[in-house]
Amino acid sequence: MKQSVKLIAGNWKMNGLGAGLDEVAALRRSLDGEAAACRIALCPPATLVERMAVAVRGSVIEVGGQDCRAEAHGAFTGGVSAEMLKDAGATLVIVGHSERRQEFGETDLLVSAKAEAAVRAGLGPIICVGETLQQREAGKAVEVVRHQVLNSLPMAVLGQDFAVAYEPVWAIGTGLTPTLEQIEEVHRAVRAAMLERLGLGSAAAPILYGGSVKPDNARDILSVPEVGGALVGGASLKAADFLGIIRAA
Ligand code: PEP
Repeated sequence: MKQSVKLIAGNWKMNGLGAGLDEVAALRRSLDGEAAACRIALCPPATLVERMAVAVRGSVIEVGGQDCRAEAHGAFTGGVSAEMLKDAGATLVIVGHSERRQEFGETDLLVSAKAEAAVRAGLGPIICVGETLQQREAGKAVEVVRHQVLNSLPMAVLGQDFAVAYEPVWAIGTGLTPTLEQIEEVHRAVRAAMLERLGLGSAAAPILYGGSVKPDNARDILSVPEVGGALVGGASLKAADFLGIIRAA
């Protein structure tokens, strides 16, 4: 992913039925005919990946998965592989979202294996990291995030399409956001850890900020040094809100 072009990615989480694709059609109508100022992606639930990919075909909007298994196929009931997402029309996949790290006990090692699987399948992984409120209050935000970056990024992403998303857990879905100075501090630490882990070849990969990004705070957040885009949850569900964030990039 080129650092000069910001990536605005929406994460619908476990929201959206077929009828919700009306919002995608509305987003597409607003963007069609415009020169894209940023890279735009929506990550719907797995059930909608293929239908959304059809709905956005020929537009600037890309489709991503929200998670994948590390294995390509096999006896993993309910699992979805990176290859399956690719086959359904995805170009990207989120891995290591804090909701998966917390609810499903996903470790850095597993997140790294999932990111590697994404690359194997030809998808660009968006690798999520972020501290809890307890860790921030203990003054450990930078240390925790640095450790996650060093251990969640496989060497396989080097030279490939990928991004890291810094998402403070306490800012997700809460309406709370760190100060711009706090965002800059962690993003600089993420970049340093990426360089330490992968070398200069990782300098072009964007670092997204995620956590209560809305149309009214997007411009400020997206202008922070080292913020190369946004991972947007709630505000990506409505075309008008998501468009407001896209326009701020
Ligand atoms: C997210 O789910 O990754 C997220 C950042 O959610 P929200 O924008 O709703 O805080």
